[in-house]
Amino acid sequence: MNTAFDSLSQWGLKTFSGCPFLIAGPCSAESREQVLATAQALAHLPLSLFRAGVWKPHTLAEGFAGAGNVALEWLQEAKELSGLPLAIEIDRPAHLEEVLNAGVDVLWLGARTTVNPFAVEELAQALRGIDTPIFIKNPITPDLGAWVAACERLRSNGVKKLGVILRGFVNRRPSKWRYEPEWELLQKFRQIFPELPYICDPSHIAGDASMVFSVCQEAMNRNFQGLMIETHYDPSKALSDVAQQLNPKQLEALLDKLVLNNPQFQAEDERNSLSRLKQKIDQLDVRLLEALGARHALASQISQITGKQGGELAESGDDAQLRTKIKAFAQRHNMSEAYLFEFFDIIMRQTKSMS
Ligand code: PEP
Ligand code: MN
Repeated sequence: MNTAFDSLSQWGLKTFSGCPFLIAGPCSAESREQVLATAQALAHLPLSLFRAGVWKPHTLAEGFAGAGNVALEWLQEAKELSGLPLAIEIDRPAHLEEVLNAGVDVLWLGARTTVNPFAVEELAQALRGIDTPIFIKNPITPDLGAWVAACERLRSNGVKKLGVILRGFVNRRPSKWRYEPEWELLQKFRQIFPELPYICDPSHIAGDASMVFSVCQEAMNRNFQGLMIETHYDPSKALSDVAQQLNPKQLEALLDKLVLNNPQFQAEDERNSLSRLKQKIDQLDVRLLEALGARHALASQISQITGKQGGELAESGDDAQLRTKIKAFAQRHNMSEAYLFEFFDIIMRQTKSMS
């Protein structure tokens, strides 16, 4: 089953003009009070979704594992009070059932799930026939193939409302970032799925509240459609990711400062994509020259072995077969037959002139 993806505007969520598509809320749902206090403090901001981790797949066993199913009740209450739709991470099919029963509006797969093809496959099958939008975070390791395969698995199970969240990758060298953004890797991924909505999670990339803004601005300059920003009513009391969460006032200030559609970067983006295309043409030209050189070398080898003159050699090829191939090729690639015949005539003339 192959489907085209829906655009973000077809997801049926509220968006705010002049603002990125914004998802905010605490790293983890810790208590009823914390969830309600944070949702209420964010209700006046241009949020499309309120997020919170219910099941937290932490790397270290002693990390806060999330409050679990009971948190879904707090989140439902928060939604009723604040009017904010909910986004929740799911890691296994059993979670899917729970969140759908709780009326969750959007789902996401976390970095530790995307990296695991077994988990993705199980979830993808469980998602068959379900129209709830889902984001897929990048895998925790910089594995482009795993990320692409995860999207393909969802697509082939009929998921149409799919989005992508860049949350950064484990870094192998000392870095100022908690997780390396790997913008270049993202660029490659984006060439494969240009039509998907792209959201940046600056909180996990930065790992520190003071650096969250700069990642958000970079994401806007790179034409991301949205941001997922961890926000807690009092980050100092957070049970997970203490250093990187903003408080609601800091989030508001960040949104005020953010520059969208900066013409300088838009022009740069166009220039970059133009120069990337030109670079590709240059590379193809070199490959073309190499192929011509290799053909020439083979033709001389044959003429040495057989002692035939170039003219005889050229005529010994199956000309009719080549002409049929050229015609089919021209049609497939919407190219001019005459141009291809002329191109090959020149090559043949060159071979004939070999002695
Ligand atoms: C999160 O968003 O709370 C989370 C666990 O993210 P990630 O999967 O990116 O680590
Ligand atoms: Mn977190």
